[in-house]
Amino acid sequence: MKFKLLLVFISILYSNFAHSKILPSSILQGGLVVGQLETGDTLKLNGNSIKLSNDKYFVFAIDRDEIGPMNITVLENDKIISINQIKVIKRDYEIQRINGLPKKMVTPDEEVIKRIIADNKIIVKAKELDLDNTFFKKNFLMPTDGIISGVFGSQRILNDVPKSPHKGLDIAAPEGQTILSTNDGIVTLAEDNLYYTGGTIIIDHGHGVKSIYAHMSSVDVVAQQKVSKGEMIGKVGSTGRSTGPHLHWGVMWFNQYVDPQLLVNQ
Ligand SMILES: [Zn+2]
Repeated sequence: MKFKLLLVFISILYSNFAHSKILPSSILQGGLVVGQLETGDTLKLNGNSIKLSNDKYFVFAIDRDEIGPMNITVLENDKIISINQIKVIKRDYEIQRINGLPKKMVTPDEEVIKRIIADNKIIVKAKELDLDNTFFKKNFLMPTDGIISGVFGSQRILNDVPKSPHKGLDIAAPEGQTILSTNDGIVTLAEDNLYYTGGTIIIDHGHGVKSIYAHMSSVDVVAQQKVSKGEMIGKVGSTGRSTGPHLHWGVMWFNQYVDPQLLVNQ
């Protein structure tokens, strides 16, 4: 075997939760990589050690704008056994330019900025968590049915000011429709009314992987609650900054958002 690795890759170029005994030669921007090493082995990504679970699972994300290549070094008892360069495949993201908007719509006023800063503090706290659970090993399911009204990575440029790229998937669905947890996890944030995201839940799947659900009309879980994949967590709404009932579903690895569609396209 070329690499002393047993790797499980979600969402790369494989159309399923595929098992591969060798590293892929390329991976997509916005992907999530899950794998398992043999006993005694450790892994470095671009020179940084990657956390391993007791059963040697690891996970890392490929950023929306990552140009690569990703350098993956496998060590056995601290001795390098392979150095692998993995090409990152560039994606074309939707760019929408809107000009001539009133200034107020582009830049929030001072009171709103204060609220956004307070909201961000609690969101950042949830994002930074590095729990030892390995719920991310299972593949993810779509949290609700509906029409995809916004894709990962798309970006709006308002009055020549580039706004931050869209960090998840928008699913347009009727107000009150059930939302399911996309995987097993622990609820680390359950808020009824954040400025941008309204009714918001963050579920932690371990090793930095989290899913976020936004604009909910009803948040039906509480922080610290253990949830199962497919369990009802709330309802579709249009709370926060939203123009109609939809679920914004995001998946992240610490601060890096990945494309949820790559996790469920099977
Ligand atoms: Zn969205």
